[in-house]
Amino acid sequence: AKRALQGKAVVFNAALEQEMTASSQLDKALRRSDHEAEFSVKFQPQYDLVKSKVTGFEALARWDSPELGSVTPDLFIPAAERAGLIRGLTQTLLSKALREMASWPTDITLSFNLSAHDLMSPQAMDSLLDTVRQSGLPASRIEFEITETAMMSDFNQARRAIDQISAAGHSIALDDFGVGYSSLQYLQQLPVSKLKIDRSFVSQMLEDSSSFKIVRTMLALSQSLDLGCVIEGVETEAQVHILRTLGARHVQGYLIGAPMDADQIDPILSTPMPL
Ligand code: C2E
Ligand code: CA
Ligand code: CA
Ligand code: CA
Repeated sequence: AKRALQGKAVVFNAALEQEMTASSQLDKALRRSDHEAEFSVKFQPQYDLVKSKVTGFEALARWDSPELGSVTPDLFIPAAERAGLIRGLTQTLLSKALREMASWPTDITLSFNLSAHDLMSPQAMDSLLDTVRQSGLPASRIEFEITETAMMSDFNQARRAIDQISAAGHSIALDDFGVGYSSLQYLQQLPVSKLKIDRSFVSQMLEDSSSFKIVRTMLALSQSLDLGCVIEGVETEAQVHILRTLGARHVQGYLIGAPMDADQIDPILSTPMPL
């Protein structure tokens, strides 16, 4: 839509009109939504190839809208950011995730995604960190995932937020690593303890030698910087096999498990998964 307004070459066409209508419908439904009732959290297992067990879960938001049905987070998170609703939503999602986590074994961790907008508000960060404190769960069991795009708008404020998170005792994972731009600079300057290698590299790894080399290089980078590394989007045993030979330890993806309801966590923790 923006392009149409600025555009010289872009013609306002039916597809674009449809897209705009869809996005304004989405915005409207989002504004009217009841966060507590319509949003939920699924949990995707993270697996340790050395311990041969699931060691944690990433919380992934879901929206079941009475008007639109189920909407993917790739759509509603950016929409919530546009509408200025993300901070409240993040707060609701974190509370829900922590409530579930209260019944997990004490060695199981939670990874929680933050939006760039959460980082931009010191008060929002305070209140998120407060919510964790009030849950009584140790900060060391809760990791926050941030993307590097989160740092591009206002690096100094992002830095303050990240320092705040780290001072509270949480670890920080850099999400979608390799997709953005100045990753290496951020790594040097921020108290990041883990990289999450984006699925796009892993999914091409066996067919495309440059993806393979990128994964290998990012793993070597994380090892030499003494950072943890999670490989995202692992779907096949063949991928696990190769990743193991490259020294990868933590994997996440449909092969281990898709994002699941809280009540599926117990069974997955008690079923041995020979990988
Ligand atoms: P992400 O943080 O990179 O999360 C990983 C996404 O990849 C998830 O999509 C997950 O379901 C999907 N995935 C995991 N394993 C596989 C696999 O083996 N194959 C394939 N094809 N996909 C896999 P999802 O749940 O649709 O979330 C999309 C994005 O929405 C997330 O990407 C994250 O950026 C954002 N998001 C989700 N929940 C939240 C949230 O609570 N807060 C914020 N700020 N963002 C969120
Ligand atoms: Ca993530
Ligand atoms: Ca990711
Ligand atoms: Ca992603």
